[in-house]
Amino acid sequence: MKQALTFLTSPKAAKAFLLLVLYLGIGFLSIQFAMLPSENFAVIWFAAGCGLVLILELGKTGIPFVLAGSAILNTPTYYVFLSHAGMNHALPLSIILGLIPAAIDTWQAVMAANAWKAFIEKNHHPPLQTPGDLPYFWQKICFMPALISMTLWHLLLSCSNTIPYNGLFSNLQQMLLLILGDTAGIFVITPIYASWKSGALRNIIRPASPYFATILLIVGLGFMVHNYLMMLVLPVLLLIAIHFKLAGTSIALFIVFTLSAIGTVFQTGPFLHNNLMITFINLQLFLFPLGLTLHYLALLQELLSRSQMQLESEVASRTEALAAANLRLEELVTTDELTGVANRREWQRRCDEAITYARRYQQPLSILLIDIDHFKNVNDHHGHLAGDLILKELCRICTTELRATDSFARWGGEEFVLLLPGTTQAEAMLAGNKLRLAVEEQAQIEFENKNIRITISIGVAMLEDTDPSLDCLLNRADQAMYAAKAAGRNQVQCALSSAYFASR
Ligand code: GH3
Ligand code: MG
Ligand code: MG
Repeated sequence: MKQALTFLTSPKAAKAFLLLVLYLGIGFLSIQFAMLPSENFAVIWFAAGCGLVLILELGKTGIPFVLAGSAILNTPTYYVFLSHAGMNHALPLSIILGLIPAAIDTWQAVMAANAWKAFIEKNHHPPLQTPGDLPYFWQKICFMPALISMTLWHLLLSCSNTIPYNGLFSNLQQMLLLILGDTAGIFVITPIYASWKSGALRNIIRPASPYFATILLIVGLGFMVHNYLMMLVLPVLLLIAIHFKLAGTSIALFIVFTLSAIGTVFQTGPFLHNNLMITFINLQLFLFPLGLTLHYLALLQELLSRSQMQLESEVASRTEALAAANLRLEELVTTDELTGVANRREWQRRCDEAITYARRYQQPLSILLIDIDHFKNVNDHHGHLAGDLILKELCRICTTELRATDSFARWGGEEFVLLLPGTTQAEAMLAGNKLRLAVEEQAQIEFENKNIRITISIGVAMLEDTDPSLDCLLNRADQAMYAAKAAGRNQVQCALSSAYFASR
């Protein structure tokens, strides 16, 4: 009792009653508009699909709701039947009789829901996502539960003489119609449910509604004006399957199935035959292949657009990785691995650009060649590791001392170069001395408890109009650097003009 009260006040209860109303409404419409008058059963039993939805949404809690829903829908039919037959106690008897198909309907819904869950367990996604899901959906979720439950129901009805015996063939036709009617109910309602669950239904209702209206018009006119006009619905259905995929197709099929059943029950349209059973089998023969083909096409489209999206995101992530790799490659090509400053190739490229600019705008340009004094001693006494640390320390000092427009690079080994655009030789001498001093004062490392210090010698050269290339300028800076070494190291020397060399 307490449990029932907690359930009644929970949001699940609201959902359950809403689904029950839907079950009753759609079941009532199935009976009202598509009832086979002579046989007392609906041509397409949409309530079978609603029963499955109830169990899927509510689990075991859904069972009494399907049972109640089906009993409410079935009892009046029995009551009419029994009271017409002049039976005493028609009402209680019909309530008891109504519970039998209700139990069978519930069993069918549970069977279909179990098949649905088994699919998820095996494939880790709900059915109706790819064309490969369809055979399982059609067979295990739609057809088998309907086949088992409706065969049983038909046997019960015919054995109890509720359905009069009209010969074996006619009874088998009836049974087939019952089975197909329930199969169709699950077949049409479940894709609508799946599209609602995936959120796709909400997105297509507005853009697809003109297409749905066209279907209504064509099928409606088909039944009212001309029997075969209904064939015009095929290209519209095709367009819907392509553009609106499963969500659009599920609604379109609901409209076509409903209108076709109503039209046929009202004795119009292309499916009519002298034998009422064959009329409805004709109808099913049209509806099923139509539905199967459209489901397949719609899910193929889903698969296509999913793989296109996957491909696009893969291309985007690969492009991103490629851009990062290119950046890294550029870094590797232009920087020195040990010290992180520009390498010789990059420095030469910058120099070529700067020389062209300096010549074009008649501006001065100087370079400095820097060499560590007695560096071999550092390596010999303290090892290569200490030497490497000193090289890094030197680069740190030089780069902090320089302007943004200056270009500092490792030429190779323990030799470094510096490009000073817009700088005369005299200014470059000043800059060189500033660097030399900074290194003398700051360049030291603690290595294995020993303090290692270094000094540098610098050769300066300025670009001249007659310099044919950067090599020429570098040559003069090299000469000046050796002059600095020769003069005692830890000093800056400038090159003599090339005109001076030429005149000697
Ligand atoms: P000088 O004052 O005449 O320049 O004497 P030096 O000992 O520095 O002579 P030199 O310039 O010829 O010495 C270059 C030395 O630099 C040789 C090599 O052991 C060392 N060296 C070159 N590249 C590296 C490097 O990447 N790491 C280390 N640790 N040492 C290097
Ligand atoms: Mg050297
Ligand atoms: Mg040296």
